[in-house]
Amino acid sequence: MPPPVTPAADDVRWQPWYYLGLAVLALSILTAVAIFTNAACGSGSASPASPSSIAATPSATGTTVQPSVATPEPSPTSPASSPTSAPATPTAGTAEPSTPRATPTEDPSPLVGCGLLAPVDQDHRISRDCVVGPLVEVEGFSLNAEAAAAWNSMKADASADGIDIYIISAYRGYDVQKQLYDQEVAAFGPDQNTSAKPGHSEHQLGTTVDINDLSGSFGDSPAGQWLQQNAARYGFVMSYPPGREGQTGYAYEPWHWRYLGPGTASAYLGSGQTLNRFLGS
Ligand SMILES: [Zn+2]
Repeated sequence: MPPPVTPAADDVRWQPWYYLGLAVLALSILTAVAIFTNAACGSGSASPASPSSIAATPSATGTTVQPSVATPEPSPTSPASSPTSAPATPTAGTAEPSTPRATPTEDPSPLVGCGLLAPVDQDHRISRDCVVGPLVEVEGFSLNAEAAAAWNSMKADASADGIDIYIISAYRGYDVQKQLYDQEVAAFGPDQNTSAKPGHSEHQLGTTVDINDLSGSFGDSPAGQWLQQNAARYGFVMSYPPGREGQTGYAYEPWHWRYLGPGTASAYLGSGQTLNRFLGS
C-alpha cells in the first residue's frame, strides 16, 4: 500500500513565491502585448488620425520636380502641383487642410499655342513660359516690341488730339498673375470675373496693356472714347466689351486692350464675334 500522497514541504509548486512569480510573468506578457499593439497603431495608421500631417505631405514635396504625364508643360517650381494624381478640382478658394483632395492640381484646360494670336481665355491656357517676345520697356512696363512701337505711335496721335493715355499694366508673368488671381479669389470668391487664372491671362503674352483707369466709367471718358474710335488702326482691340460677358467670361473692361496688328484688328471688328471666338477658342 503506497503511502498517501501529501504535498512535500519542499515542493516549489506549493511555495507562495511560486504563485507570485507566475502572476508577475503573466502581467509582463500582458504588458508586452499591449505595448506592441499600441505601437502598431501609432505608426501604421497615424494618417487618418492626423489630417494635418496629410495636408503637409504635398507641400513638403511640392517644390520638387514632378514630371507630369497629364500636362505637356513643365512646372518645375509650381507649388500647386500635387504629388498625387488626384482628380482635377481647382478649388483653390476652398482648400482646407483637412481635405487633401482640395490641394490645387494641374490646370486641366486645353493648352493652346503661344503666339500673337493665341486664343487664350478662361477655358484655354497658354504654357507657363509662353510670352510673345521680344519684350521692351515702355513707361516702366514690359511690352512686346511690335506692340510697343504701335503704342508709342497711338499715344503720340492721341496726344495730338488732346488725349492723354498711359499704361498702368502690361506684361505679367505666370507667377505674378497667380498672385493677383489668388488675391482676387480671396477677396471676392472663386466666381470673380475680373482676374484671369494663371496661364489664362492675355497679359502673360506681353501684347496687352491696361490703360489709364481700371473702372467701367473709363469707357465713357474722352480717352476711352478715343480708343474705341481709333485703337484698331494701331492694332489694339478691346478684349472684353460690354454685353458680351457670356462669351468672354469677363466683365466689361474698357481699359484692357490687346495688340493683334492693324490687319487682324480690323478683321476682328468686322467679324462681330468676341475676340476669343474670333481667334478660334
Ligand atoms: Zn488687363
